[in-house]
Amino acid sequence: MYDVIIIGGGPCGLAAGIEASKAGLSHLILEKGSLTESIRRYPKMMRFFSTAENIEIGGIPFPIAGVKANRTEALQYYRKVAGYFNLNFKLFTEVKHVTRYAGQAPNGPELFTVFTNNDKTYQARKIILATGYFDKPRWLQIPGEDLPHVTHYYDEPFQYSYTNVVIVGASNSAVEAALELYRADAHVTIVHRAEDFRKTVKYWLVPDVKNRVKEGKIHTKFSTCITRIEPGKVGTTNLQTGEEGELPADFVLILTGYIPDADLLKECGVTLDPETQVPTYDRETFETNVPGMYVCGTVMAGVYTEKVFIENGREHAKAIIDHITGKPVRKVAELIDRI
Ligand SMILES: Cc1cc2nc3c(=O)[nH]c(=O)nc-3n(C[C@H](O)[C@H](O)[C@H](O)COP(=O)(O)OP(=O)(O)OC[C@H]3O[C@@H](n4cnc5c(N)ncnc54)[C@H](O)[C@@H]3O)c2cc1C
Repeated sequence: MYDVIIIGGGPCGLAAGIEASKAGLSHLILEKGSLTESIRRYPKMMRFFSTAENIEIGGIPFPIAGVKANRTEALQYYRKVAGYFNLNFKLFTEVKHVTRYAGQAPNGPELFTVFTNNDKTYQARKIILATGYFDKPRWLQIPGEDLPHVTHYYDEPFQYSYTNVVIVGASNSAVEAALELYRADAHVTIVHRAEDFRKTVKYWLVPDVKNRVKEGKIHTKFSTCITRIEPGKVGTTNLQTGEEGELPADFVLILTGYIPDADLLKECGVTLDPETQVPTYDRETFETNVPGMYVCGTVMAGVYTEKVFIENGREHAKAIIDHITGKPVRKVAELIDRI
């Protein structure tokens, strides 16, 4: 029996474990993959847009040679911090659902049972859901999307050299992938349904990508959607003229973002806004409609994934643990507006 079970071992789940531990609460972190699995699966050459101090957790400094950490540095940092705080975690353990004891639980108001993929169960007085959003890409729901040359995750550029690659989307991920691929001699076409790149693209990427487009080194098809994927090509429709076309595509990268796993939240009894998919939770304490169950980090974002980051998500744990321990709840930013 734990005081708190935290589901998800990303930066925000680890921050929750640290806060629980500092407050003298017994805790268990259940993580379906490796430690900080989402970051492990990020593009190999990625660099965080946040400065290193803004993604620190537990008050432990994150010293790096430059200003912004890369993926490897972040993986090293979070692993060492987890070890430093002696966090209690079980890796490669996926939570399938959580039930709440209906009635008067022994010695406390709440009692949860957590069911995992390996047929094990764990019990806790409180649950913190910190499952992020990276597991669930936004599918286009078009024919061919499940073919082997199509992916919703970009890894590294070299497998694509001297091939035709269609990138769907025009956000940071799509732009960063396009630039890396172009520099690895791939022939890149960005297809996006709006008229231009998204306004949220990092300001330092904009001149780079726009100049490459101007030079004809990266191709764009704006106001266009892809309608089907076949081996070697995609079908397109221009959303303004209705004109149909085709593009050569040895590979298709669908980088249209991710969304928290609504099914898991529902399995745990958490209700969601039908339009925004934002879970029902108290804006100060992060407690959901299930008493004793909290959301922490990016899992609370619904469709607004661009508003919750490590930067603000790491703070949620403080308010949650304050609430659990009956202390005055520290005020933390719930969502932040970014460029
Ligand atoms: C390419 C990229 C760059 C980014 N750069 C930045 C940046 O510079 N600054 C910033 O602040 N943010 C950045 N972000 C966003 C940030 O990485 C995420 O917000 C961060 O990982 C969120 O942390 P989290 O702990 O909420 O979720 P995650 O890190 O996604 O952790 C959730 C964890 O839960 C696990 N999990 C999911 N379901 C289950 C289950 N059923 N049972 C058990 N475990 C489960 C997952 O395996 C995962 O490890 C970036 C995101 C991307 C994709």
